[in-house]
Amino acid sequence: MVTSNDSKGAAAATATEPEQEPGKAVATEPVEVDLLIIGAGPAGLYAAYYAGFRGLRVAIMDSLPEAGGQVTALYPEKLIFDVAGFPAIKGQALIDNLVEQASPFDPLYLLNHRAEEMDRDEAGGTITVTSHRDTRVLCKSVIITGGIGTFTPRPLPDAEEFEGRGLRYFVPRLDELAGLDVLIVGGGDSAFDWAQSLEPLSKSVTLIHRRDRFRAHEHTVSQVMDSSVQVLTFTEVARIQGHDGVQTVELFNNRTDERRTIEVQAVVAALGFTADLGPLTRWGLTQHKRHIVVDTAMHTNLPRVFAAGDIAEYEGKVRLISVGFGEAATAVNNAAIVVDPAAKLFPGHSSDPG
Ligand SMILES: Cc1cc2nc3c(=O)[nH]c(=O)nc-3n(C[C@H](O)[C@H](O)[C@H](O)COP(=O)(O)OP(=O)(O)OC[C@H]3O[C@@H](n4cnc5c(N)ncnc54)[C@H](O)[C@@H]3O)c2cc1C
Repeated sequence: MVTSNDSKGAAAATATEPEQEPGKAVATEPVEVDLLIIGAGPAGLYAAYYAGFRGLRVAIMDSLPEAGGQVTALYPEKLIFDVAGFPAIKGQALIDNLVEQASPFDPLYLLNHRAEEMDRDEAGGTITVTSHRDTRVLCKSVIITGGIGTFTPRPLPDAEEFEGRGLRYFVPRLDELAGLDVLIVGGGDSAFDWAQSLEPLSKSVTLIHRRDRFRAHEHTVSQVMDSSVQVLTFTEVARIQGHDGVQTVELFNNRTDERRTIEVQAVVAALGFTADLGPLTRWGLTQHKRHIVVDTAMHTNLPRVFAAGDIAEYEGKVRLISVGFGEAATAVNNAAIVVDPAAKLFPGHSSDPG
């Protein structure tokens, strides 16, 4: 989907709206911007704000249908304690704030687009990045904030037809499941965090796991066990049924083959994610242990191409959100003088009168 945020209030919803027409190319003409950011995790979202502050037209591309990177995908409900200025903030609230912070500058969100090819026209000073859906972005500079790479949810087998129709892999907004009967599949932190958070809101919550051992925080597991959440071990999905959406799910016990059917309107598959640097490894970037090597300006070995956040590598690197924010600001300010050589590196203060 190609979306542009046109109001502060709509920013979060627009940026995270799921794909409407999977697999369909959405733009035949290239999208033209000054700066393309690849990766809409915390570093990429902050880079989008900073690029807007610098007066750059910016597009931000992510292979996932939601902005937020690891935070939204893996721990939206967890409290984060080490982001400067926030004594404690829930993961999704941090992401919503980042989206809101960037929204006055109207970044163009290209969600559900995996950056696949990069062609550099060094004479013309332009770069064209093409997504796996053939959307082309023509820009003067690129910042790669790809984290640990393309992040793909492990799919629930044979359930593709229900994706977006009751089956989901993320729960960035819990209230979407308020009042529903919810089945959560998985035995890790995400499964238990969502079970715990949904329990007061949803009509009922059932959590199934194919084993009897969980990979979640012990304290959360015991809290869920003591709540109204029904936890079924050695249990898997046999099939989902429904016409317009999920209506019932047949479950089976993988030791006894005992079957039961439960009525649910929502299935949350929390089966983990696979991460793959994939296309980025083919662009001629200098890499070190699956990361992209940058200098102190966050410049990669390729002209006009920068990197920031978890994916960027240099001696002494610490992979934290707060570090990614600083790197994003450095990368954008250095990209700004690549886009316009007459521009200054130092952006001035955001608090200076405009
Ligand atoms: C369980 C857990 C708890 C954590 N807790 C903390 C904490 O308390 N404090 C802290 O500071 N850090 C914490 N972290 C680490 C923190 O989440 C990461 O440092 C941060 O998310 C990195 O941000 P990023 O923007 O660099 O990358 P990411 O968040 O990984 O986002 C990268 C984005 O790039 C996209 N992408 C990659 N390749 C492509 C491509 N080719 N095309 C399009 N899109 C692409 C991915 O889909 C992804 O959305 C935690 C991590 C985990 C897993």
